[in-house]
Amino acid sequence: MKIIAADVIVTSPDRNFVTLKLTTDDGLTGLGDATLNGRELSVVAYLREHVVPLLIGIDAHRIEDTWQFLYRSAYWRRGPVTMAAIAAVDVALWDIKAKAAGMPLYQLLGGASRTGLLAYGHASGKSNEELFDSVREHQEQGYRAIRVQTGVPGLKSIYGIASNATFEANTGVRYDHEPAQRGARPAEEDWDTRSYLRHVPTVFEAVRNEFGPELPLLHDGHHRMTPIQAAKLGKSLEPYDLFWLEDVTPAENPEALRLVRQHTTTPLAIGEIFNTVWDYQQIIREQLIDYVRSAVTHTGGITHLKKILDYASQYQIKSGMHGPTDISPVGMAAAMHLGLAIHNFGIQEYMRHGDKTNAVFQQSFTWTDGMLHPGDTPGIGVELDVDEAGRYPYETAYLPYNRLADGTVHDW
Ligand SMILES: [Mg+2]
Repeated sequence: MKIIAADVIVTSPDRNFVTLKLTTDDGLTGLGDATLNGRELSVVAYLREHVVPLLIGIDAHRIEDTWQFLYRSAYWRRGPVTMAAIAAVDVALWDIKAKAAGMPLYQLLGGASRTGLLAYGHASGKSNEELFDSVREHQEQGYRAIRVQTGVPGLKSIYGIASNATFEANTGVRYDHEPAQRGARPAEEDWDTRSYLRHVPTVFEAVRNEFGPELPLLHDGHHRMTPIQAAKLGKSLEPYDLFWLEDVTPAENPEALRLVRQHTTTPLAIGEIFNTVWDYQQIIREQLIDYVRSAVTHTGGITHLKKILDYASQYQIKSGMHGPTDISPVGMAAAMHLGLAIHNFGIQEYMRHGDKTNAVFQQSFTWTDGMLHPGDTPGIGVELDVDEAGRYPYETAYLPYNRLADGTVHDW
């Protein structure tokens, strides 16, 4: 089963997506997601210039060997561009293998370990009233677990709040929160950690008072705090029994989590910007986190993320795979198959894609009573309509960045 074609497809229905499509000499095709939000074309070039020529003629069945070949033969290992490119090849090969077997991919990964995947959505509001409405909307859509992001008094625009009027005006689509905006430069947002730390516990108190103790609540700190600030936040949120507190400190320094961990029993999640098992080695071994946030798309695909999650399972650490809208339907399907099969599944982030995106990517997954299931179509269960994709050419878009009141650039 030799690979005879490898096409990199760039499309921007509601936002930019990069997809790798592999074709074998017996007519099977497989898809892999290579979308790297705000840096999409770097992965396109990596694939087209340096990976596609190496794939033609290789045996599509040799997934592990191809992974090791692409990782080790580059010499320059790791990094988001490399690992997104390898992930796309890996998922496309798994898609092909599962189609060849006539089975949904999760069967090849060991079969289903559960009936469906608990998923959480993103509720947000500048005020508590807006936030409560957003939580209720999510509950009406079936969500049984909800991430809560709030405005902070004195700050104009901050991460996680669904007030992206520019995006909505440009696309006609209101995502729960789509931070990447089309345009030649990243948008500037403002930030003040002390105001945030004062305000957030009052919001969680209000949400618990309104919605009761049962609803699993999550929150994302988005890499902005120092270790001691993060420790303070974790401690101040303990009365509100969070499912997890995410990305409290910049992810480059895993040791920071030691200090956070010493001070709080609030569960911690991190890893959406990690891309290999080496990024997790210390924080899993020292049990500094409770959930692995990596996406299949950004962590070398199913082959590599499964190794990370198997390692995590030895320490009772669970999956919490990244699932914002920049993970394409192909990447989401891969996550669902992996999540269904592994024992240490925790929760899946799930922001629904827009109608245009769903017209480009035909999908077999189901969303029932707050639970995802990848479906039983052979492969990963996603096909790409090339003509439909061709209607939406790439448009430059960037994630925002932060400045403090005195003009200092801050972590976003
Ligand atoms: Mg995050």
